[in-house]
Amino acid sequence: MEQLIKKYGTNDPFELAKALYIEVVFEPLGDSFGYFSRFNRTTLIHINESLPYKKQITTCAHELGHVILHPDTNAAFLKSNTYYPTSKIEQEANDFMLELLFNREGEHSISIKEATEEYGAPKQLLYKNFYN
Ligand SMILES: [Zn+2]
Repeated sequence: MEQLIKKYGTNDPFELAKALYIEVVFEPLGDSFGYFSRFNRTTLIHINESLPYKKQITTCAHELGHVILHPDTNAAFLKSNTYYPTSKIEQEANDFMLELLFNREGEHSISIKEATEEYGAPKQLLYKNFYN
C-alpha cells in the first residue's frame, strides 16, 4: 500500500484509478454503492451518483481493492447501506479501503471514529495494522 501511494504520489482513490487506467463512472445504482466491471481490457468502477462525496471516496477505494486484489471476480456488488463485510473478499476490499484512507492527511482520509462506527473496523485492528 505504501508503495502504491508513493509511486503515484497520492492516496486519492480517484487519482489512483486514473493512474491505473481504470475509468470511474457515476450513475444511478439504486440501493448499491458501487461495483466494478470489465469489458475487453477496460476496467470500470461504477459509483452511485447519489451518494455523498465521502461515501463515493470510500466506495471507489473499496472497488479499487477488488480490482487489485480480486481481478477475477466480476460484478462484486457492495450491498446497500452497509460496509459490514459479508464475505472474505468483501472483508479484503474493506481492509484495502481502510489501509488506503485511514489516518491520512487531507480530505481523502477517514478518522478512527468513521472507520469503527461506519465501516465496522475493529479498533484493535486499526491500531495494529494501520496506526503506526
Ligand atoms: Zn465489495
